Amino acid sequence: MLHIVACIKQVPDTKIIKMNPKTNTMDRASAPAILNPYDAHAVEEAVRLKQRYGGVVSVVTMGPPPAVKAIRKCIEIGADAGYLVTDRAFAGADTLATSYAITKAIEKIAEEHPVDLVICGKMTIDGDTGQVGPGVARRLDIPPLTNVKKVVEVNKEQGYAIVHRKLEDGHEVVQSTLPCLFSVEKEINEVPYSPLPNMLRAARYNPVVWSVNDLGDIDRTLLGLKGSPTIVAKVWPPEKPKGGEMLEGTATEQVERLMDILREKQGLFRVKEGQS
Ligand SMILES: Cc1cc2nc3c(=O)[nH]c(=O)nc-3n(C[C@H](O)[C@H](O)[C@H](O)COP(=O)(O)OP(=O)(O)OC[C@H]3O[C@@H](n4cnc5c(N)ncnc54)[C@H](O)[C@@H]3O)c2cc1C
Repeated sequence: MLHIVACIKQVPDTKIIKMNPKTNTMDRASAPAILNPYDAHAVEEAVRLKQRYGGVVSVVTMGPPPAVKAIRKCIEIGADAGYLVTDRAFAGADTLATSYAITKAIEKIAEEHPVDLVICGKMTIDGDTGQVGPGVARRLDIPPLTNVKKVVEVNKEQGYAIVHRKLEDGHEVVQSTLPCLFSVEKEINEVPYSPLPNMLRAARYNPVVWSVNDLGDIDRTLLGLKGSPTIVAKVWPPEKPKGGEMLEGTATEQVERLMDILREKQGLFRVKEGQS
């Protein structure tokens, strides 16, 4: 029986979110919180592996109390158990501190039921770093398999997994020992509508909630803002591209105008070349 732990995060829906024009930061209150879309695929893949090989799927998240909603979404998809790690001590965590807290939670989950596989999304849609999965793998001292787009086999008895890793120009087939960690691409599967019994179970489901005191032997200097060496020096929205010029007149006039523009640009380029 496989025990798969999927790491999930609740994120603001970045398709809707507004930016605060004064601070250039996200106005998180302006958008509903959703399960990170990549993590929905991670949970779906975990559930498919459970159906294929037999086993149990646990999901874990570090976040504020409302993240319970994201855990319930995972129960809808077919996860068996959810763990919410929440405490003021985790506030202000960067990816390093986040991966430490999640690792401690996975180690605690594994005390009750050893973990064969950890599955993460490729990245989140708000942080976008893709660092937490490999960070957790490093701390657990297990191989990280990133950009996984297909799971060929997970063989617990013989202790290996085979996956396809997406590359720019195709894919590579990789075999790893178990336990290991996958970070999955969206194309790995399609998340179907949840069956009614799952939805009913999810609506009533309350996850296990752990504070920092529940995580046992933990170095508090590695948590939250204290454990976060990342400094966000500046955040700004990308410059909007300027609108192009519409060429008007007859075809000849348009070609002449285009030639003028190109000559002008070439001239600018020559001046720049001369300067350097
Ligand atoms: C200095 C600093 C301070 C910050 N302070 C805050 C803050 O106060 N509040 C805040 O919300 N964010 C804060 N952040 C953002 C925070 O670092 C990221 O949200 C977090 O570390 C995850 O990184 P990411 O979103 O890039 O995840 P990625 O690395 O892109 O995520 C990859 C995968 O890792 C897993 N994962 C990621 N995050 C979690 C999680 N929390 N629980 C379980 N699994 C997860 C998921 O499977 C996800 O698909 C801060 C960042 C910095 C640099």
